[in-house]
Amino acid sequence: MPLEAPTTNTRSSFSETGTLNVYHCQIRMSQPSLIFDAHLDLSMNAMEWNRDIRLPLVDIRRRETGMKDLPDRGNGTVCLPEMRKGRIGLCVATQIARYSARFSKLPGWQSPEQAWAQTQGQLAWYRTMEQAGELVQLRTWQEVSAHASLWRNATSTSKLPIGYLLSLEGADSILSMKHLEKARNSGLIALGPVHYGPGIYGHGTDDEGQLTVRGHELLKKMEELNIILDATHLCDESFWDALSRFRGPVWASHHNCRSLADWNRQLSDDQIRALIERGAVIGMAFDAIMMVHNWVHHKSKAQDFNLKIEKICDHIDHICQIAGNAKHVGIGTDLDGGYGTEQTPMDLNSIADLANLSTPLAARGYKPADIDNIFAGNFLRFLKDNLK
Ligand SMILES: [Zn+2]
Repeated sequence: MPLEAPTTNTRSSFSETGTLNVYHCQIRMSQPSLIFDAHLDLSMNAMEWNRDIRLPLVDIRRRETGMKDLPDRGNGTVCLPEMRKGRIGLCVATQIARYSARFSKLPGWQSPEQAWAQTQGQLAWYRTMEQAGELVQLRTWQEVSAHASLWRNATSTSKLPIGYLLSLEGADSILSMKHLEKARNSGLIALGPVHYGPGIYGHGTDDEGQLTVRGHELLKKMEELNIILDATHLCDESFWDALSRFRGPVWASHHNCRSLADWNRQLSDDQIRALIERGAVIGMAFDAIMMVHNWVHHKSKAQDFNLKIEKICDHIDHICQIAGNAKHVGIGTDLDGGYGTEQTPMDLNSIADLANLSTPLAARGYKPADIDNIFAGNFLRFLKDNLK
């Protein structure tokens, strides 16, 4: 967004007669060398959706033909081969397990102990994928930096392991601060205290209220252990409570703009401003419900809105205009977060299609360096500064 950048590229060349020709060219950007996706629920897909995400997308979809238990059956957009194809060589991958109290309407485990055990099963899946050479866990900046270079310099990515940093979406499974220490020792680098509704540590999307006393204790321990606070899913009161107390690094892993998709799940302009002041990077999500106003869950279709990948540029622009630069936006697709093509832009059939975002960004005047920062550089810079 390029406060002063042109909206079309102007290229000059000399003709054979030696006169200078200036012409406008149709922008068609080359593929990015690396995409960093700050939010994928890989292990949830493996262990709860029962998807072998090492398989080609077509096979995963075929195996789900006729299944009706989940809305995204047969419509998934994420698997490891598609990530490699789209050069999504680095991601933040979650452990996720909610606790659902007795009269809650939200799905979840009936005890926090079950939720903890579920996250440990998810961790076992990540470890198994590491042993199989499919994934590699990254814990330090040196590891992240070396892995990013490996991908950026590779001519073919089809055999490369995908690097992941471990995060926890919703902290209900953290039974005690000892369990948080254990999680940190397993390589946990980021944590979002809540998910949807009320949680043990605070209040999430579609709910109200500040963090709980245990939530305050959690933030203190996160500071001590150098765990990044993921602001995504904090309801407004919990968001402001968390930001006023937490002194460590903050990001918003998968989060769009409320002014463009009116729902408390998204960030208000004041929240965007506060995050930018803290040096945060905000990951753009490609869930249709988070991209446009008035999407009706399980009813609307991308065609009703003529929704294409390019729409995310409005969200990117909005944040860049508030920041006055293009340094606080990244990608956090959430593309395997419980929905598939029934709830993605019309031109997003697989996560590999993300690479096509280069073209509309360039058409809006983003320079190649800005585009690279949005695809990977901004989150990498954040990790360089904050990964201890
Ligand atoms: Zn989420």
